[in-house]
Amino acid sequence: MHPTNFTVVDPATGQTIREVELTSLEDTDRVIERAQEALPAWRAVTPGERASLLRRFAAVVDDHLEELAALEVENAGHTVGNARWEAGNVRDVLNYYSATPERLMGRQIPVPGGVNVTFHEPVGVVGVIVPWNFPMPLAAWSFAPALAAGNTVVLKPAELTPLTAMRLEELGRTAGIPEGVFSVVPGSGPVVGERFVTHPLVRKVAFTGSTAVGKRIMAGCAEQVKRVTLELGGKSANIIFADADLERAAASAPYAVFDNAGQDCCARSRILVERSVFDEFVGKLVTAVQRLRVLHPADPTSEMGPLISAKQRDMVQGYISQADVVAQGTAPDGEGFWLPPTVAHVTDPADRIWREEVFGPLVGVMPFDDEDEAVALANDTEYGLAGSVYTSDLGRALRVVRRIDAGALSVNTHTSVRYWTPFGGFKQSGLGRELGPDAPQAFTEEKNVFLADV
Ligand code: NAD
Repeated sequence: MHPTNFTVVDPATGQTIREVELTSLEDTDRVIERAQEALPAWRAVTPGERASLLRRFAAVVDDHLEELAALEVENAGHTVGNARWEAGNVRDVLNYYSATPERLMGRQIPVPGGVNVTFHEPVGVVGVIVPWNFPMPLAAWSFAPALAAGNTVVLKPAELTPLTAMRLEELGRTAGIPEGVFSVVPGSGPVVGERFVTHPLVRKVAFTGSTAVGKRIMAGCAEQVKRVTLELGGKSANIIFADADLERAAASAPYAVFDNAGQDCCARSRILVERSVFDEFVGKLVTAVQRLRVLHPADPTSEMGPLISAKQRDMVQGYISQADVVAQGTAPDGEGFWLPPTVAHVTDPADRIWREEVFGPLVGVMPFDDEDEAVALANDTEYGLAGSVYTSDLGRALRVVRRIDAGALSVNTHTSVRYWTPFGGFKQSGLGRELGPDAPQAFTEEKNVFLADV
């Protein structure tokens, strides 16, 4: 018997926010069927009208930006600065993909004996499954291009963080998105999430979450040759060469890993430093980490909030207890799921904290001797999502990023996500790409039509 309710908790205080009803299997089926019924009318909406509906959705999100941000501060423990960025990202992504309906063009390909044209047809009902770490943007990265390409969407937020998704469904309705076109089903992974995989009317699953669950979803989708994109875990490297601006690299390294309390798939949780500057860099890093303002997330000066749950905090604490800790920052006492940002020295690349995605505020530092060793260490992981290289030598920067097996790399900065550019993982960090100009294509089937004797 599955539970029917979930208690949503404020991670900064441990206090209950509210009870959310978990969608049953039967109700999930009903929502999927409604999404299927809504397809023909949604496909028939003219491109211009679909574009303006998405722009209206973006405008309504913008009107409720502060409300959505406050909800995420409370539900996910995100700092208010981050939460505002996240709500703004939903608006921007909706606006960006509002251009799609009027620009989703097929091709006319020269062939003998007739005319050949291609169409990008929507795949149908898309099931979107997202984790708790960035509930709003990760949902929008799938639902915006999917809706733009003429699909209907059923979105399952994570059990721990359903509130902003539920509000986004209401805001979509306010904007005029028709009934059944964009539905949110709060519920458990094994019930609602699994149903997206097994229900024959769901033609594509867009999953963001752990690699373990992603593998299970991919295997399930294989049963029906169901389309699937996977955005999974990471264990990204931050490589600091001796010729880098060390001040800048050390100032940004904490944000590369402790943003969202380290619960970030792109977290650069392995810092590789050229040996000649190792001590100097680590000294600067420790100073930056100890200055990090770990405060209640609603405090506008907060730079790091709590972890999502007591379970997550205890799991990360388990890693910290085993680590060779160099330094820790601060964390508030009292209620809530807090941990201090922690820097650990790692000498053995087989160390658990070097290999496993900790998903918390713990970073390992290790020295390297030359470019080849830096690349080999960075690539010595089953993951391949993100990474950074700090150097003043542009040639070296390009050489190194070309050799790193990861999907989202940056030079002399820690940031990974720009909605104009493709995002996704190599190796076990995922399958497919989100964002950027090509994302809508991942929610379409290319149809080829040949007209004889034309
Ligand atoms: P998770 O895999 O436990 O859960 C993710 C979602 O899947 C949740 O909605 C959950 O309810 C659902 N789920 C769980 N079991 C399921 C099942 N059997 N069938 C269908 N759905 C199921 O991950 P999490 O702990 O919520 O999130 C953290 C993970 O997400 C980390 O590994 C992180 O790296 C990854 N992540 C990846 C990206 C990316 O873009 N690559 C972004 C953010 C997070």
